[in-house]
Amino acid sequence: MQAELKKLPSVDRLLSHPVVAGLVEQHGRSAVVEAIRAELESARGGILSGQTAPAIDRLAGRVRRRLEVLLTPTLLPVINATGVIVHTNLGRALLSQRARQAMLEAASSYTNLEYDLPAGQRGSRYVHAADLLCRLTGAEAAVVVNNNAAAVILALTVLAQGREVIISRSQLVEIGGGFRIPDIMAQSGAVLVEVGTTNRTYVRDYEQAIHPDRTAMILVVHPSNYRITGFTAQPDLPELSELARRHNILLVEDLGSGTLLDTAPFGLAHEPTIQESLSAGADLVTASGDKLLGGPQAGLLLGRADIIQRLKRHPLIRALRVDKTTLAGLQATLLAYLEEKALDEIPVWQMIAASPDRLARRARKWRSALLDLPGLTPDTVRLVRTVSTVGGGSLPGQTLPTRALSIIVPHPDAVAARLRAASPPVVVRIENNSLLLDPRTVLPSQDAQLVAILRQTLAGTAGG
Ligand SMILES: *Cc1c(COP(=O)(O)O)cnc(C)c1O
Repeated sequence: MQAELKKLPSVDRLLSHPVVAGLVEQHGRSAVVEAIRAELESARGGILSGQTAPAIDRLAGRVRRRLEVLLTPTLLPVINATGVIVHTNLGRALLSQRARQAMLEAASSYTNLEYDLPAGQRGSRYVHAADLLCRLTGAEAAVVVNNNAAAVILALTVLAQGREVIISRSQLVEIGGGFRIPDIMAQSGAVLVEVGTTNRTYVRDYEQAIHPDRTAMILVVHPSNYRITGFTAQPDLPELSELARRHNILLVEDLGSGTLLDTAPFGLAHEPTIQESLSAGADLVTASGDKLLGGPQAGLLLGRADIIQRLKRHPLIRALRVDKTTLAGLQATLLAYLEEKALDEIPVWQMIAASPDRLARRARKWRSALLDLPGLTPDTVRLVRTVSTVGGGSLPGQTLPTRALSIIVPHPDAVAARLRAASPPVVVRIENNSLLLDPRTVLPSQDAQLVAILRQTLAGTAGG
């Protein structure tokens, strides 16, 4: 064992190996040294458990492979073949060309982010998307923060700290990723007052809970990721608005997805729009930038000018602020809505609007590019009718008819794992023991890459 350990080269000796020396030239010394140390350590471990010392060429090869892993970023582009359009785990909305371009420009150059060009003095970053948001929704004023969770925390902290917030028991929910309304409430220092029951809440429930001094607001949380069906009741916004006005308290709605366009023309349920919520009487509305809006991650607060002014004056806003690339991307996204080009430009809406016929054509192309693989037959690679979902905390239970490619393989879980290990990784669904790939969320520009990865992964598996 000692003799084998002695055979291991030193770090310096490995550094002068031609392969390793080439790596140093390309990637710098410190990362290579780290890879060498790790490989020597693992070779030592191998020897201690009875193996022989690897030859230096073999060690050099291992250093190269370890360095590759070390230098690969952990955040990677992924092909989303799940058919879930706003997939939170896969990064939510893809951005339009216009938004990407604007973000690139904002990142590459100085900007007037907080500089008033006509006046030649300090300005505010919050002017940039605000006017557009107001124009598109009819809001008096708007402000943008890091995400919708931040928007809700800001609103509760500024408007209700130390005071009571009334919310229906049917809306005390967890949005996902640990965002639980009761916890957020506690965090902000607002006092939660639950009213009604899980399935039925009436205006009188809210009214009985209003206290002239203690109550700050009624909070309505949009059921983004769940549905309560059957024997249910929940007052509509105009009723709550009337109640809030009568008692001089605020009505705030957390819309979650916050769409600007109607989802109903696409065969989906109607998701309330920001403009509807405001015109139904909400004093303040919060929404996400990267759900159905189809923009970058952001939290939008829209509503009464005096309320937005209070939010902007609170020190917390500094900690929740958005950066210039986000503002640039959001602004560009909103401009597409203003020009009524959202359906042509914004990927989320293009995916929602994609017709089953067009999706079938693409799935058929994928299929014919696979049929010559050994073990795959017209019976194991088929087009199937199934459904896509909007996802991302909008329209729970609502689906869009789609045509997906179904591939029957002996061990679908193992094949799915290999697809996830591909470069780029491919994420698929497994349904009825077969792989299911939905073209709706795969960009047409990714088709060739997807087919190549499928061919490589399936060759040799299918016959199994
Ligand atoms: C998604 C969602 C949130 C959280 O929004 P983020 O932008 O992810 O922070 C909050 N409330 C509702 C109702 C949501 O749907």
